Amino acid sequence: MQTSLQGHRALITGASSGIGEQFAHQLAALGADLVIAARRLDRLQKLAATLQETHGVRVDALESDLSLPGAAEKLFRQATSTRPITMLINNAGIGKWNDFWEPPLVDHLATMQVNMIAPTELAHFCVRHMLDHQKPSFITNVSSVAAFQPVGGFAVYSGTKAYLTYFSEVLDSEIQGKGIQVCCFCPGGTLTEFMGQAGQQVTSRGQFSMMTSERAVQIAIRGMLKGKRLVIPGFLNKVSAFLPRFVPRRLALWIGSQAMKQAVQRVS
Ligand code: NDP
Repeated sequence: MQTSLQGHRALITGASSGIGEQFAHQLAALGADLVIAARRLDRLQKLAATLQETHGVRVDALESDLSLPGAAEKLFRQATSTRPITMLINNAGIGKWNDFWEPPLVDHLATMQVNMIAPTELAHFCVRHMLDHQKPSFITNVSSVAAFQPVGGFAVYSGTKAYLTYFSEVLDSEIQGKGIQVCCFCPGGTLTEFMGQAGQQVTSRGQFSMMTSERAVQIAIRGMLKGKRLVIPGFLNKVSAFLPRFVPRRLALWIGSQAMKQAVQRVS
Protein backbone atom coordinates (compact mmCIF):
# COMPACT_ATOMS: atom_id res chain seq x y z
CA MET A 1 0.00 0.00 0.00
CA GLN A 2 1.56 3.30 -1.10
CA THR A 3 -0.63 5.76 0.83
CA SER A 4 1.07 7.89 3.48
CA LEU A 5 -0.90 8.68 6.60
CA GLN A 6 1.58 11.24 7.90
CA GLY A 7 -0.34 13.97 9.69
CA HIS A 8 -3.06 11.55 10.79
CA ARG A 9 -3.52 10.46 14.39
CA ALA A 10 -5.56 7.31 15.08
CA LEU A 11 -7.30 6.24 18.29
CA ILE A 12 -7.47 2.42 18.33
CA THR A 13 -9.44 0.58 21.02
CA GLY A 14 -8.55 -3.01 21.87
CA ALA A 15 -5.00 -2.54 20.58
CA SER A 16 -3.35 -4.92 23.06
CA SER A 17 -3.94 -7.98 20.85
CA GLY A 18 -5.35 -9.41 17.63
CA ILE A 19 -7.03 -7.17 15.09
CA GLY A 20 -6.51 -3.95 17.07
CA GLU A 21 -2.79 -4.65 17.46
CA GLN A 22 -2.57 -5.24 13.70
CA PHE A 23 -4.31 -1.92 13.02
CA ALA A 24 -1.62 -0.32 15.20
CA HIS A 25 1.24 -1.99 13.29
CA GLN A 26 -0.16 -1.23 9.84
CA LEU A 27 -1.32 2.35 10.48
CA ALA A 28 2.05 3.15 12.12
CA ALA A 29 3.84 1.65 9.11
CA LEU A 30 1.89 4.13 6.93
CA GLY A 31 3.12 7.00 9.12
CA ALA A 32 0.13 7.68 11.39
CA ASP A 33 0.65 8.69 15.00
CA LEU A 34 -1.42 6.57 17.37
CA VAL A 35 -3.30 6.51 20.63
CA ILE A 36 -3.66 2.85 21.61
CA ALA A 37 -6.08 1.78 24.33
CA ALA A 38 -7.06 -1.40 26.21
CA ARG A 39 -6.98 -2.72 29.78
CA ARG A 40 -3.54 -4.42 29.58
CA LEU A 41 -1.30 -1.35 29.81
CA ASP A 42 1.91 -3.42 29.94
CA ARG A 43 1.22 -4.83 26.48
CA LEU A 44 0.30 -1.40 25.11
CA GLN A 45 3.51 0.14 26.43
CA LYS A 46 5.63 -2.58 24.81
CA LEU A 47 3.77 -2.15 21.53
CA ALA A 48 4.16 1.65 21.70
CA ALA A 49 7.93 1.33 22.21
CA THR A 50 8.26 -1.09 19.27
CA LEU A 51 6.21 1.07 16.90
CA GLN A 52 8.00 4.28 17.85
CA GLU A 53 11.37 2.65 17.29
CA THR A 54 10.42 0.88 14.05
CA HIS A 55 8.37 3.58 12.33
CA GLY A 56 9.37 6.83 14.04
CA VAL A 57 5.77 7.71 14.85
CA ARG A 58 4.44 8.98 18.17
CA VAL A 59 2.36 6.45 20.11
CA ASP A 60 0.46 7.19 23.34
CA ALA A 61 -0.75 4.21 25.38
CA LEU A 62 -3.86 4.64 27.53
CA GLU A 63 -5.36 2.14 29.96
CA SER A 64 -9.12 1.96 29.56
CA ASP A 65 -11.81 -0.53 30.60
CA LEU A 66 -14.65 0.18 28.19
CA SER A 67 -17.07 -2.05 30.10
CA LEU A 68 -17.28 0.72 32.72
CA PRO A 69 -19.83 3.52 32.25
CA GLY A 70 -18.05 6.81 31.52
CA ALA A 71 -14.84 5.11 30.33
CA ALA A 72 -15.35 6.04 26.66
CA GLU A 73 -15.72 9.74 27.46
CA LYS A 74 -12.64 9.67 29.69
CA LEU A 75 -10.65 7.93 26.94
CA PHE A 76 -11.76 10.48 24.33
CA ARG A 77 -10.80 13.42 26.61
CA GLN A 78 -7.37 11.92 27.35
CA ALA A 79 -6.74 11.05 23.69
CA THR A 80 -7.57 14.55 22.44
CA SER A 81 -6.06 16.56 25.31
CA THR A 82 -2.87 17.38 23.37
CA ARG A 83 -3.57 16.89 19.65
CA PRO A 84 -6.58 16.10 17.47
CA ILE A 85 -7.68 12.62 16.39
CA THR A 86 -8.36 12.06 12.68
CA MET A 87 -9.09 8.31 12.81
CA LEU A 88 -11.15 6.27 15.22
CA ILE A 89 -10.84 2.48 15.08
CA ASN A 90 -13.65 1.18 17.29
CA ASN A 91 -12.24 -2.32 17.58
CA ALA A 92 -12.49 -3.58 21.20
CA GLY A 93 -15.03 -6.39 21.39
CA ILE A 94 -15.94 -9.40 23.50
CA GLY A 95 -18.51 -12.21 23.61
CA LYS A 96 -19.17 -15.43 25.48
CA TRP A 97 -20.03 -18.50 23.36
CA ASN A 98 -22.61 -20.33 25.43
CA ASP A 99 -26.33 -20.84 25.96
CA PHE A 100 -27.73 -17.39 26.76
CA TRP A 101 -28.80 -18.37 30.30
CA GLU A 102 -25.44 -19.90 31.35
CA PRO A 103 -23.13 -16.88 31.87
CA PRO A 104 -24.18 -14.39 34.55
CA LEU A 105 -26.19 -11.43 33.23
CA VAL A 106 -23.29 -9.13 34.11
CA ASP A 107 -21.23 -10.76 31.30
CA HIS A 108 -23.91 -9.97 28.72
CA LEU A 109 -24.21 -6.39 29.96
CA ALA A 110 -20.43 -5.98 29.66
CA THR A 111 -20.60 -7.32 26.09
CA MET A 112 -23.28 -4.76 25.23
CA GLN A 113 -21.29 -1.97 26.88
CA VAL A 114 -17.99 -2.81 25.11
CA ASN A 115 -19.45 -3.74 21.69
CA MET A 116 -22.25 -1.15 21.35
CA ILE A 117 -22.39 1.60 23.98
CA ALA A 118 -18.69 2.51 24.11
CA PRO A 119 -18.24 2.58 20.28
CA THR A 120 -21.37 4.72 19.96
CA GLU A 121 -20.11 7.14 22.61
CA LEU A 122 -16.64 7.33 21.04
CA ALA A 123 -18.14 7.85 17.58
CA HIS A 124 -20.35 10.66 18.91
CA PHE A 125 -17.47 12.47 20.62
CA CYS A 126 -15.15 11.92 17.66
CA VAL A 127 -17.63 13.02 14.97
CA ARG A 128 -18.18 16.35 16.77
CA HIS A 129 -14.42 16.72 17.29
CA MET A 130 -13.71 15.91 13.61
CA LEU A 131 -16.40 18.31 12.37
CA ASP A 132 -14.76 21.00 14.53
CA HIS A 133 -11.19 20.47 13.34
CA GLN A 134 -12.23 19.98 9.67
CA LYS A 135 -9.30 17.66 8.80
CA PRO A 136 -10.18 14.69 6.53
CA SER A 137 -11.12 11.91 8.94
CA PHE A 138 -12.06 8.23 9.17
CA ILE A 139 -14.08 6.10 11.55
CA THR A 140 -13.91 2.31 11.30
CA ASN A 141 -16.21 0.17 13.42
CA VAL A 142 -15.09 -3.44 13.72
CA SER A 143 -18.23 -5.53 13.52
CA SER A 144 -18.49 -9.17 12.33
CA VAL A 145 -20.14 -11.42 9.73
CA ALA A 146 -22.26 -12.46 12.75
CA ALA A 147 -24.16 -9.24 12.02
CA PHE A 148 -25.50 -10.89 8.86
CA GLN A 149 -25.46 -14.53 9.86
CA PRO A 150 -26.39 -14.92 13.54
CA VAL A 151 -24.65 -17.75 15.34
CA GLY A 152 -26.04 -20.12 17.99
CA GLY A 153 -24.31 -19.59 21.35
CA PHE A 154 -23.69 -15.95 20.47
CA ALA A 155 -27.17 -14.45 21.02
CA VAL A 156 -25.99 -11.21 22.63
CA TYR A 157 -22.77 -10.98 20.61
CA SER A 158 -24.61 -11.39 17.27
CA GLY A 159 -27.13 -8.75 18.37
CA THR A 160 -24.41 -6.25 19.28
CA LYS A 161 -22.70 -6.70 15.91
CA ALA A 162 -25.98 -6.28 14.01
CA TYR A 163 -26.46 -3.02 15.92
CA LEU A 164 -22.93 -1.81 15.15
CA THR A 165 -23.33 -2.59 11.44
CA TYR A 166 -26.66 -0.75 11.05
CA PHE A 167 -25.30 2.14 13.13
CA SER A 168 -22.18 2.45 10.93
CA GLU A 169 -24.05 2.32 7.64
CA VAL A 170 -26.60 4.94 8.65
CA LEU A 171 -23.96 7.21 10.18
CA ASP A 172 -21.92 7.07 6.95
CA SER A 173 -24.96 7.98 4.88
CA GLU A 174 -25.85 10.88 7.20
CA ILE A 175 -22.34 12.32 7.22
CA GLN A 176 -21.67 12.21 3.46
CA GLY A 177 -19.83 15.27 2.19
CA LYS A 178 -18.62 16.43 5.60
CA GLY A 179 -15.07 15.04 5.32
CA ILE A 180 -15.59 11.98 7.52
CA GLN A 181 -15.69 8.45 6.04
CA VAL A 182 -17.37 5.80 8.17
CA CYS A 183 -16.47 2.19 7.41
CA CYS A 184 -17.93 -0.97 8.90
CA PHE A 185 -15.42 -3.80 8.89
CA CYS A 186 -16.97 -7.28 9.20
CA PRO A 187 -14.39 -10.04 9.60
CA GLY A 188 -15.29 -13.70 9.95
CA GLY A 189 -13.18 -16.20 11.88
CA THR A 190 -9.78 -14.60 12.50
CA LEU A 191 -6.96 -16.18 14.49
CA THR A 192 -6.67 -13.99 17.59
CA GLU A 193 -7.16 -14.27 21.35
CA PHE A 194 -10.89 -13.70 20.82
CA MET A 195 -11.72 -17.42 20.94
CA GLY A 196 -9.97 -17.86 24.29
CA GLN A 197 -12.01 -15.14 25.98
CA ALA A 198 -15.19 -16.49 24.31
CA GLY A 199 -14.64 -19.97 25.78
CA GLN A 200 -13.65 -21.52 22.45
CA GLN A 201 -10.72 -23.51 21.14
CA VAL A 202 -10.00 -23.51 17.41
CA THR A 203 -10.21 -26.98 15.77
CA SER A 204 -7.77 -28.07 13.06
CA ARG A 205 -10.51 -27.40 10.49
CA GLY A 206 -10.97 -23.95 12.01
CA GLN A 207 -7.24 -23.22 11.78
CA PHE A 208 -7.48 -23.93 8.06
CA SER A 209 -10.53 -21.77 7.36
CA MET A 210 -9.68 -18.73 9.49
CA MET A 211 -7.83 -15.64 8.35
CA THR A 212 -4.78 -14.11 9.98
CA SER A 213 -5.35 -10.75 11.64
CA GLU A 214 -2.59 -9.32 9.43
CA ARG A 215 -4.45 -10.20 6.20
CA ALA A 216 -7.82 -9.11 7.57
CA VAL A 217 -6.48 -5.70 8.60
CA GLN A 218 -4.72 -5.14 5.26
CA ILE A 219 -8.13 -5.49 3.61
CA ALA A 220 -9.80 -3.32 6.25
CA ILE A 221 -7.36 -0.43 5.86
CA ARG A 222 -7.49 -0.56 2.08
CA GLY A 223 -11.30 -0.43 2.18
CA MET A 224 -11.37 2.33 4.78
CA LEU A 225 -9.00 4.54 2.75
CA LYS A 226 -11.05 3.94 -0.41
CA GLY A 227 -14.11 5.24 1.44
CA LYS A 228 -15.98 1.92 1.44
CA ARG A 229 -18.98 1.79 3.73
CA LEU A 230 -18.83 -1.98 4.27
CA VAL A 231 -15.76 -4.21 4.11
CA ILE A 232 -16.03 -8.00 4.39
CA PRO A 233 -12.62 -9.69 3.99
CA GLY A 234 -12.33 -12.91 1.95
CA PHE A 235 -14.61 -14.93 -0.29
CA LEU A 236 -15.93 -17.31 2.41
CA ASN A 237 -16.87 -14.42 4.69
CA LYS A 238 -18.67 -12.66 1.83
CA VAL A 239 -20.66 -15.84 1.19
CA SER A 240 -21.49 -16.07 4.93
CA ALA A 241 -22.69 -12.48 4.91
CA PHE A 242 -24.77 -12.63 1.74
CA LEU A 243 -26.18 -16.18 1.79
CA PRO A 244 -28.71 -15.37 4.56
CA ARG A 245 -30.45 -12.98 2.15
CA PHE A 246 -31.45 -15.89 -0.05
CA VAL A 247 -32.44 -18.60 2.45
CA PRO A 248 -35.06 -18.68 5.24
CA ARG A 249 -33.80 -17.07 8.46
CA ARG A 250 -34.08 -20.31 10.45
CA LEU A 251 -31.86 -22.05 7.91
CA ALA A 252 -29.35 -19.18 7.96
CA LEU A 253 -29.07 -19.44 11.75
CA TRP A 254 -28.65 -23.21 11.53
CA ILE A 255 -25.91 -22.90 8.88
CA GLY A 256 -24.07 -20.24 10.93
CA SER A 257 -24.23 -22.37 14.06
CA GLN A 258 -23.02 -25.52 12.29
CA ALA A 259 -20.13 -23.64 10.67
CA MET A 260 -19.09 -22.34 14.09
CA LYS A 261 -19.18 -25.84 15.59
CA GLN A 262 -16.85 -27.07 12.83
CA ALA A 263 -14.39 -24.27 13.47
CA VAL A 264 -14.26 -24.23 17.28
CA GLN A 265 -15.03 -26.40 20.29
CA ARG A 266 -16.08 -25.31 23.74
CA VAL A 267 -13.57 -25.12 26.58
CA SER A 268 -14.69 -24.56 30.16
P1 NDP B 1 -8.80 -10.14 20.84
O1 NDP B 1 -9.40 -10.84 22.02
O2 NDP B 1 -7.47 -10.56 20.36
O3 NDP B 1 -8.76 -8.57 21.09
C1 NDP B 1 -9.79 -7.89 21.77
C2 NDP B 1 -9.27 -6.56 22.24
O4 NDP B 1 -10.33 -5.90 22.95
C3 NDP B 1 -8.10 -6.70 23.19
O5 NDP B 1 -7.13 -5.74 22.89
C4 NDP B 1 -8.70 -6.44 24.55
O6 NDP B 1 -7.73 -5.81 25.38
C5 NDP B 1 -9.82 -5.45 24.19
N1 NDP B 1 -10.86 -5.45 25.22
C6 NDP B 1 -11.56 -6.51 25.69
N2 NDP B 1 -12.36 -6.11 26.70
C7 NDP B 1 -12.14 -4.79 26.86
C8 NDP B 1 -12.63 -3.82 27.79
N3 NDP B 1 -13.50 -4.16 28.76
N4 NDP B 1 -12.19 -2.56 27.68
C9 NDP B 1 -11.28 -2.22 26.74
N5 NDP B 1 -10.76 -3.08 25.86
C10 NDP B 1 -11.19 -4.36 25.93
O7 NDP B 1 -9.90 -10.30 19.70
P2 NDP B 1 -9.96 -9.76 18.19
O8 NDP B 1 -8.78 -9.00 17.85
O9 NDP B 1 -10.35 -10.91 17.35
O10 NDP B 1 -11.24 -8.81 18.30
C11 NDP B 1 -11.26 -7.49 17.80
C12 NDP B 1 -12.62 -7.20 17.23
O11 NDP B 1 -12.85 -8.07 16.12
C13 NDP B 1 -13.78 -7.44 18.20
O12 NDP B 1 -14.69 -6.38 18.09
C14 NDP B 1 -14.39 -8.74 17.71
O13 NDP B 1 -15.77 -8.81 18.00
C15 NDP B 1 -14.15 -8.60 16.22
N6 NDP B 1 -14.22 -9.87 15.48
C16 NDP B 1 -13.32 -10.88 15.73
C17 NDP B 1 -13.42 -12.07 15.05
C18 NDP B 1 -12.47 -13.21 15.27
O14 NDP B 1 -12.75 -14.33 14.77
N7 NDP B 1 -11.37 -13.01 15.96
C19 NDP B 1 -14.48 -12.29 14.04
C20 NDP B 1 -15.34 -11.18 13.86
C21 NDP B 1 -15.22 -10.02 14.57
P3 NDP B 1 -7.59 -5.97 26.97
O15 NDP B 1 -7.98 -7.38 27.32
O16 NDP B 1 -6.15 -5.65 27.22
O17 NDP B 1 -8.52 -4.94 27.53
